[in-house]
Amino acid sequence: MKKHNFYAGPSILPQFTIENTAKAVEDLDGIGLSIMEISHRSKEFQAVMDEAVELFIKLLNIPEGYSVLFLGGGASTQFAMIPFNLMKQKAAYLNTGAWSKKAIKEAKFFGEVDVVATSEDKNFNYIPRGWKIPADADYFHITTNNTIYGTEIKEDFDVEVPLVADMSSDIFSRPLDVSKYAIIYGGAQKNLGPAGVTFVVVKNDVLGKTDRPIPTMLNYQTHIDKGSMFNTPPCLPIYGCLQTLKWLDNMGGIKEMEKTNKKKAELLYGEINRNKLFKPTVDNPEDRSLMNVCFVMNEEFEKHEKDFYEFATSKGMIGIKGHRSVGGFRASLYNAMPHESVEALVQVMQDFEKSI
Ligand SMILES: *Cc1c(COP(=O)(O)O)cnc(C)c1O
Repeated sequence: MKKHNFYAGPSILPQFTIENTAKAVEDLDGIGLSIMEISHRSKEFQAVMDEAVELFIKLLNIPEGYSVLFLGGGASTQFAMIPFNLMKQKAAYLNTGAWSKKAIKEAKFFGEVDVVATSEDKNFNYIPRGWKIPADADYFHITTNNTIYGTEIKEDFDVEVPLVADMSSDIFSRPLDVSKYAIIYGGAQKNLGPAGVTFVVVKNDVLGKTDRPIPTMLNYQTHIDKGSMFNTPPCLPIYGCLQTLKWLDNMGGIKEMEKTNKKKAELLYGEINRNKLFKPTVDNPEDRSLMNVCFVMNEEFEKHEKDFYEFATSKGMIGIKGHRSVGGFRASLYNAMPHESVEALVQVMQDFEKSI
């Protein structure tokens, strides 16, 4: 039976990425060696790194003055690296969920944190509006897509201080105005490649403004100066990312991706709204994530939750259990998710409704 992969992360990747990476594990471009056993200083790996950076710049339309880095440590290490490198005294954070909270916790090791707004009062089921950033904040941090709660910030904010965004789970899902950001970062394992590599897009001139000594590996400047090769980079995951970047480019870039992402999300949210069994957890349609669609059963049908999960799983729907802090269901519709898989899930929801 065909499996439809709705995991939140690590998650579905293009078949193109999986096949090409598998080939390179055996033999990279016919050189007779595996991508796993060549020096990161070899010309072959340097070409992989160069092309990945080049495609990142092309696809996101990154202006001059920015660096693209591929590092280890996950998005979670960035939670500390950002304040380490940018915070003099105070930073502003928007608290939109579990990942924002973790970022806030790390920032507090380095200085004062001003949480300008939070949606915690309603279990993070909306994006707060009408907040104000203190003029003396060294930067403002947001999580654009809240993977666990299914909310998403779909605009590029205009703010007066450097804007830092965790885009782990929505990078490359819509076109961005990169010039509005000081740092964009994320783990690759949601929408880009295999786990093990972290992307960071950093505006060069936001660095070097704190007096604090920064350990070498945690200093962005180290990695900029050495082209992400100060130490051994995660070579295989970077190769996987390169394949997804090529796939994105072949598909017509992220404008095209955004179109298909919108169609997929409309189809699923439409069914959740129509189907008498289900309701979305995020009330405001503007706040609903295109990447992670969270829904629960209407109260009178809650007793069927386990049955629906088992029914869906028996039909090949994988990974639709909601995060424990939300409950219900979550279907992640990352770039690589084909429209047919969303149609298959909708069919399963309709079949289950008829059986009740
Ligand atoms: C998954 C996720 C993270 C954590 O990433 P790691 O690479 O596991 O540290 C951080 N932020 C968001 C928005 C995520 O979805």
